[in-house]
Amino acid sequence: MTAPVVLWFRRDLRLSDNPALSAAVATGRPVVPVYILDGEGEDARPLGGAARWWLHGSLAALAADLDTRGAGLVLRRGPVRTVLTDLVRETGADAVFWTRMAGSDETPLADHLAGLGVTARRYAGSLLYEPEAVRNKQGQPFRVFTPFWKHLQTLDPPPRPLPAPDAIPAPTAWPDGDALEDWGLRPTQPDWAGGLRATWVPGEDAAHTVLEGFLDDQAPAYADQRDALGADATSLLSPHLRFGEISPRQIWHAVRDRPYDRGAESFLREVGWREFSYHLLHQHPAMHDEPLQEAFAAFPWRDDPEGLRAWARGRTGYPVVDAAMRQLWETGWMHNRARMIVGSFLVKDLLIDWRAGERWFWDTLVDACPANNTCSWQWIAGCGADAAPYFRVFNPVLQGEKFDADGAYVRRWVPELAGLPDRVLHKPWDAPALVLREAGVTLGETYPAPILDHKAARDRALAALETIKGPS
Ligand code: FAD
Repeated sequence: MTAPVVLWFRRDLRLSDNPALSAAVATGRPVVPVYILDGEGEDARPLGGAARWWLHGSLAALAADLDTRGAGLVLRRGPVRTVLTDLVRETGADAVFWTRMAGSDETPLADHLAGLGVTARRYAGSLLYEPEAVRNKQGQPFRVFTPFWKHLQTLDPPPRPLPAPDAIPAPTAWPDGDALEDWGLRPTQPDWAGGLRATWVPGEDAAHTVLEGFLDDQAPAYADQRDALGADATSLLSPHLRFGEISPRQIWHAVRDRPYDRGAESFLREVGWREFSYHLLHQHPAMHDEPLQEAFAAFPWRDDPEGLRAWARGRTGYPVVDAAMRQLWETGWMHNRARMIVGSFLVKDLLIDWRAGERWFWDTLVDACPANNTCSWQWIAGCGADAAPYFRVFNPVLQGEKFDADGAYVRRWVPELAGLPDRVLHKPWDAPALVLREAGVTLGETYPAPILDHKAARDRALAALETIKGPS
């Protein structure tokens, strides 16, 4: 009997450019693919609701793709160590292969498996470069994005993507597993996922269709249009990347294999931000809870459940903020510029702890990502490594007027304001009574009056910042 290899799928739900899978197949032994729910590490943070919805579709697509290669997908839930121990015992496997994930400490698991006489092999595959391979001149990890990105351009290109295996040898008997439907990843009562279904198709094939479509149609204008809130100018690849349905190396080579395109290069730089976030997470695994700048541990955040609720529900009275929060609720995604605007509104105007915003995003984003979400919230709160300074407070009216100049974004997501002319759309409280009446808007009734005065809130935020500044 040839002992099988267990292939532990994690945030790498794809068959192509999956070095751990290719290595398992290359052994010539039977392969037992497994996915472990809530098991990204033994202290895994459970996925939020929108990400669970995505996971269902992604696992269904993966199982179908495995099936065409003669393989199954075993679904189990529970602590990773227990599940893998049970699985190697049940199948007689003597090796477990998986893709490394920056930010999770996998050494204790590998040691545990070694103690059972099981070989644990970890493969690079979720990043362009492994964190240990990217160091500055002093041999230290980078803490600032621009030099990090410049340095990456000096390295050899990342390895070319691997093809999906044609066939995957199956074990003589498949171990038991759960049925995907029984995991209840998709909401039923109530079913709030209609907007998600209308927006997304999870899975590896869909990820490549999205990438090709973006490179053909939108990439040329990306550099100029990526901040325009209503332009649909970005790739929408984030959930596919989050679940590893496509690898950053596949994206890198797809861009570089085409003739030079300024837009596509600028898009690649954003993929570089994802890379940077993971490198930071690798250095600071507790980042979702601990500010990187220690002074911020003493920041006087306000406890304001009502403000938090108004923000989350898109009822702040600031149209661009409300449009963005409603886009998030409906589709599980929000434009990057909008994420910055609502993030600034929460931590600076409302003076609410960035961790509350990070948690709301974690629950509602289909792309909720342990690295990008945390790093971006620390960036916007001013407490991150390479962060926007705290004193830079976004003005939600000016941001709206600049990045949604024709009002398409606000009119789409806040339809009760659609009849307002552009000149007051982002500040309806400034509109003359007649204009409001003609547009069918009654502030405080059909649409909220602003929950705060931005100028006063800005002053309050700057005063709060003074309290954590050390003596100069
Ligand atoms: P594109 O513009 O097409 O970019 C391509 C890819 O590059 C993205 O899919 C993403 O993987 C990466 N990328 C783009 N911008 C950034 C960025 N600023 N930082 C890191 N990576 C980036 N992104 C997530 O993937 N998951 C999150 O949970 C997340 N939370 C965020 C929270 C806040 C407060 C902010 C300000 C940003 C957050 N981002 C997050 C980053 C960014 O907003 C999204 O990656 C982007 O909007 C996804 O849309 P896209 O795929 O069309 O992006």
